[in-house]
Amino acid sequence: LTDNLARAQGYIAHFADTGVQNHIAGQSVPAVSGATFNTISPVDLTPLAKVAKGGAEDIDRAVAAAKEAFKTWSKTPGVERRKILIKVAEAIEANAERIAFTECLDTGQALRFMSKAALRGAANFRFFADKAPSAEDGLSLRNANQMNVTARRPIGPVGVITPWNTPFMLSTWKIAPALASGCTVVHKPAEFSPMTAKLLVEIAEEAGLPKGVLNLVNGFGEDAGKRLTEHPDIKAIAFVGESRTGSMIMKQGADTLKRVHFELGGKNPVIVFEDGDLERAADAASFMIYSLNGERCTSSSRLLVQDSIYEEFTARVAKVAANIKVGHPLDPETVVGPLIHPEHETKVLSYFDAARAEGATIAAGGEKLGETGCYVAPTLFTNATNDMTIAQEEIFGPVLTAISFSDEAEALALANDVQYGLAAYLWTNDLNRAMRMTDDLDAGMIWVNSENVRHLPAPFGGVKASGIGRDGGDWSFDFYMETVNVSFPR
Ligand code: NAD
Repeated sequence: LTDNLARAQGYIAHFADTGVQNHIAGQSVPAVSGATFNTISPVDLTPLAKVAKGGAEDIDRAVAAAKEAFKTWSKTPGVERRKILIKVAEAIEANAERIAFTECLDTGQALRFMSKAALRGAANFRFFADKAPSAEDGLSLRNANQMNVTARRPIGPVGVITPWNTPFMLSTWKIAPALASGCTVVHKPAEFSPMTAKLLVEIAEEAGLPKGVLNLVNGFGEDAGKRLTEHPDIKAIAFVGESRTGSMIMKQGADTLKRVHFELGGKNPVIVFEDGDLERAADAASFMIYSLNGERCTSSSRLLVQDSIYEEFTARVAKVAANIKVGHPLDPETVVGPLIHPEHETKVLSYFDAARAEGATIAAGGEKLGETGCYVAPTLFTNATNDMTIAQEEIFGPVLTAISFSDEAEALALANDVQYGLAAYLWTNDLNRAMRMTDDLDAGMIWVNSENVRHLPAPFGGVKASGIGRDGGDWSFDFYMETVNVSFPR
């Protein structure tokens, strides 16, 4: 840990002089107003760096830069874009440690997961880079009188607005396909974790990304974020964050008829039947809620267990929760680090009170840990019912709510009885049951007998209040591009 801390301090010294500035048309710049805010360490709440507090004027400048760069970038052949984006992927790999260490300090996420997340960022660039040469391809559709030919064009400069959980990886998941499509980008990262967004644009430009293709404006949602979603020259908004923020963005973008793509909240069930592989199911359910601090949109936050195995299964998970190493995010042994920010910690702790008030049993955790920093204990609530707040609301921490069910019909009803529909996890060895359940579960992504394992060509996204649209494979390109049909007589 001592060695890692020293290295991390070295990495964030990068921001010591100027703080985390905006990045517009290839220049690192302060906010036009000169305003700044602090990003703080969730380990001890000390300020890590000053951050430019961008507003409408900064967004306007960034959009003007993105609009200008679009003229060339959108006409750059896909094979050329591919070459540049592969170089970006390589540069991310070369800087993976710097990115991971910086992100650990800024977010509180454990190094064991962040080192992989940085490399996932590179994988996202590589994957979408490879698709750039064929991004504009279309179909020919003939009838007796016509030959119709379709082609795709990049939609224009786009806005990317991201949350604070695993910010680097998530940003690349949006920015890489946008750039591969030929769009230019204005990125507004989350105010709680701005550091690695700045590293990304610097690394990308050093690797050869032309200036103005990727621009960065830091600041708060209600000013910088709002202006970005309202700007007439921004053609689409890719947003990842809370469902109610998605609603606001939809309203803000209405006047300019913004195309939107939303990846929003979740309250994802993991459904365990008595015929499932219980050992693997317990490991997977624990991993999906207690890794990444539970600050993960696809976390398995509701554990639905068949009543015949409920006691045994929840006891197993409680044991795992009680033995999880909570600690400094840069300690290689740490599994759960501090939550992102005191505001978020207060929210998570409020659910411990709600659980007690509503009569759930606290089988593990349920308390704040330590005197300083945003540490909470990995928590399991048992004897919960689906109408409790802890079963309905997204807590976004290492907090799992376990509910029992008697049969398939009840499992399905409980699973679907929330406003969200992002992911679901199903454990059964009965194939017919798996088919029936997956047909009717309200979720955009369902994993059978597995934790969340991503396959980049597969669609990613949610139903109900969990989102609009899909990322992954060609779905991403469809969002960042317009399909145009040209008809010839025959
Ligand atoms: P948030 O909605 O509070 O903020 C996300 C971003 O939106 C931030 O950059 C914020 O500044 C900006 N923003 C806020 N108000 C805005 C406005 N009016 N106009 C424009 N921008 C605005 O979310 P958060 O708390 O940062 O992140 C946690 C949430 O993200 C959770 O709900 C989580 O489930 C969700 N999430 C979803 C996915 C997914 O793939 N579905 C992935 C990760 C996180």
